Amino acid sequence: MHQNIKNSITEIQKRIEQASLRSNRNPSEIQIVAVTKYSTLETTKTVLDEGLIHIGESKVQDVLPKLDVLGDRGIWHFIGHLQTNKVREVVGRFRYIHSLDRMSLAKEIEKWGKKKEFKTNCFVQVNVSGEESKFGLKPKEVLEFVKETSKMEYITICGLMTMAPFESDSENTRPVFRRLKELQEEVKSLQLPHAPVQDLSMGMSNDFEVAIEEGATFIRLGTILVGQELKPTL
Ligand SMILES: *Cc1c(COP(=O)(O)O)cnc(C)c1O
Repeated sequence: MHQNIKNSITEIQKRIEQASLRSNRNPSEIQIVAVTKYSTLETTKTVLDEGLIHIGESKVQDVLPKLDVLGDRGIWHFIGHLQTNKVREVVGRFRYIHSLDRMSLAKEIEKWGKKKEFKTNCFVQVNVSGEESKFGLKPKEVLEFVKETSKMEYITICGLMTMAPFESDSENTRPVFRRLKELQEEVKSLQLPHAPVQDLSMGMSNDFEVAIEEGATFIRLGTILVGQELKPTL
């Protein structure tokens, strides 16, 4: 497993460099969020040992034991759909939440941020493709939503996040990522102090190169990096 992960990282870093080159970007602008939601504690530890520091998880109950052991070693990103009643466990443990998609959730993050004196970097999740199965605000709702969060003291809107539909030809995801980039510029131009929106969380195992070409700063990689050891069988 160790060797596999080492090799995957080397391979992924090459592909990040090539995609950066194609789009005139500096590869250092792009961070890998290692998605270990289907990985054991041991594998998650290996990922950290190999030098990746951003770890993405999506199930509160699964991540707590990992945080007990590895919490101080990484920067933790909550990437999954977040139920309001789980916010209490997430705030203070995760530096980033990638799935801010409704006002009730923002209020809960603010509430627990205040109690724990912890400011969370939040990505507003946008359902660019409009697929019904996906969470996220509609693109046209984003500006108003960000404005409405400007009174919140414990939320920084650090960027926007999207998931593209699965495409066997990843080129087909490009318009989705491009639209998110445009939205980022629109939100940025509001110049709201709580919303620097410097980051774009987009691109997964199947489409990260296209996402980089369109401006991703955080790519969320699971399968290609660590496989799916614990993926529940449906
Ligand atoms: C699982 C997951 C990923 C990783 O997906 P892979 O295709 O395995 O790379 C990325 N982002 C989110 C939000 C996820 O839930």
